[in-house]
Amino acid sequence: MPGTAPHDSCFAYLVGRLRELAPVVETDTFTYDSPDLRKEVRLMNAVARFRPKAKERILFGAHWDSRPWADHDSIPAHRNRPVLGANDGASGVAVLLEVARVLQKTGTPIGIDLALFDGEDLGTEENPSGFFRGSTRYVEWRGDERPLFVLVLDLVGKRDLKLKWEANSQEQASNIVDLVWQEARELGIRNFRSEPGPRVYDDHIPFLNAGIPAVDLIDFDFPEWHTTRDTPAVCSPASLAAVGTVLVSLATKASFLSR
Ligand SMILES: [Zn+2]
Repeated sequence: MPGTAPHDSCFAYLVGRLRELAPVVETDTFTYDSPDLRKEVRLMNAVARFRPKAKERILFGAHWDSRPWADHDSIPAHRNRPVLGANDGASGVAVLLEVARVLQKTGTPIGIDLALFDGEDLGTEENPSGFFRGSTRYVEWRGDERPLFVLVLDLVGKRDLKLKWEANSQEQASNIVDLVWQEARELGIRNFRSEPGPRVYDDHIPFLNAGIPAVDLIDFDFPEWHTTRDTPAVCSPASLAAVGTVLVSLATKASFLSR
């Protein structure tokens, strides 16, 4: 959770790993004064850039922070404990690290940015501005680069993953939804379900608000969400592989450029 030494050392680990895999890794440090944590915390974004000079780029992003409070836990005594975030946070990051490892070997015909957003999950009902701090900051920092599109990964690790069309994505970036789900269909990956899903406010919103097409890949049907039970035990490597395979295919074929 932000504002702790393990948070900072986790970031150092992630950046170190990305630096082994990508030609350019940039970081950005900023702060958020959290009324709920009753302190100002230091937040860090990172981006690993493949073909850093390419003009045509796509961006895959995930939040790497974990929520300081398990406020949906069924046990009241747990609600002030931090969420481990195996699915809510780490699943998307795990996919991006593996995508980086693959892209280092395969190369890519266009620019690919793999972004890690901090401070996605610092919001509360009283202080919703604590949500999406990192992605909001990222758009301010790099938004003028205008990637062709953005895919946000969140909660992609649960067993029997079912990714449906998130409503904001479908309304504001339906052509990218079609592109991604068609890619999955061609690959025979059945976790991508062609049916309407819930409306979720996530790290894709700041991009959509800036006019950048962005899609949230999320399975929000997750009973362990914001509980102390969001651990690796409820996650599946097969789900991570399914999502990563679609991303690698999009990044390496870039067949959408000719469509
Ligand atoms: Zn969350």
